[in-house]
Amino acid sequence: MTGTMLPIVFDPPMRGKPPRHWFDLTHDERVDATVRLGLPKFRADQISRHVFDRLEDDATRFTDIPAAIRGELGEQLFPELLERVTQRATDDGRTVKTLWKLFDGSLLESVLMRYTHRTTLCISSQAGCGMACPFCATGQGGLKRNLSQAEIVAQVLKADQQLAAGAVPGTTGRLNNIVFMGMGEPLANYRQVLGSIRTFLEPGPNGFGMSARGITVSTVGLVPRIQQLTEEGLPLTLAVSLHAPDDELRDEIVPINNRYKVDEVVDAAWEYAKATKRRVSIEYAMMRDINDQVERAELLAQVLKRRGDWGWVHVNLIPLNPTPGSRWTASRKADEKAFIETLERRGVPVTLRDTRGQDIDGACGQLAAKNTPEPQPAA
Ligand code: SF4
Repeated sequence: MTGTMLPIVFDPPMRGKPPRHWFDLTHDERVDATVRLGLPKFRADQISRHVFDRLEDDATRFTDIPAAIRGELGEQLFPELLERVTQRATDDGRTVKTLWKLFDGSLLESVLMRYTHRTTLCISSQAGCGMACPFCATGQGGLKRNLSQAEIVAQVLKADQQLAAGAVPGTTGRLNNIVFMGMGEPLANYRQVLGSIRTFLEPGPNGFGMSARGITVSTVGLVPRIQQLTEEGLPLTLAVSLHAPDDELRDEIVPINNRYKVDEVVDAAWEYAKATKRRVSIEYAMMRDINDQVERAELLAQVLKRRGDWGWVHVNLIPLNPTPGSRWTASRKADEKAFIETLERRGVPVTLRDTRGQDIDGACGQLAAKNTPEPQPAA
């Protein structure tokens, strides 16, 4: 394959900080901020109850807080972080993709998906992505910046508000699942992502009280950060975007592989599975004539089998969502079938992901890419 590789970016310079928000703060910091506003400490939990129990983030509606202070409380701790740009629904309204604009004009996406027994939100952890995978629309736009903890948490609040308002047919309940599979590499924004996860897990009134098992963190394979996540001792689901079982191909389609090789990534995933007792998901986007050959299915089975029995891993094949004008396209159905049969013959648990949202530009970054002005050539 040919093509110019974009540089991988880990820590972008932050141009201007997102406004501080209640969601950025620990419990102690919330109490401090409440006292600074001249309110007694107990008001902090009252405020949190509005947000996490009642999903209300408009401080003017915090009716048990003195009216005189609500305006200042709103300005200082509840600035509007996400401005809705567009929203598109498909699958009879069961899939809803929202494009949000942040304080600095950055765009991000989140996708709400209603299934029979659960509701899942796919969220973004960065504006853009610095991992430069050549088949990915987000990767082509590069990394703009890391999201703040509050910008990540706000995506969940907005989705829960939508569900509570009955905007998605079939439920008025809350989210059961959160998957960090939108824009960005979550483990490249480790501190903010982990902070947001702690807010999702924290029981009321200080958090959403979700189960760790309902939260999936995907990574393209930042080995030291996978090891760090293992040490957190949280039974989250880890999804590793492998996309190729051999270094030769993976060096090209997942550039971070030039730093962390297939074996190191799979070892880190295996250690994660052992420590957390959670099955790791190996994500594999099927790309026509690139990584979808039967030989690669055989190789994938070998790579995974070297780490022990099949209980620790599950392969999730993803039909590539073609990006307009891209040479990276979805596999032929016959090749997809042969790939699955090969893995199944070798006893590897495998599923083909359903392609929710294709008709609303469901591939990560596509909607944002359409709404972003064309990049100008450098002077
Ligand atoms: S595939 Fe994932 S890691 Fe790679 S550039 Fe796209 S968003 Fe980033």
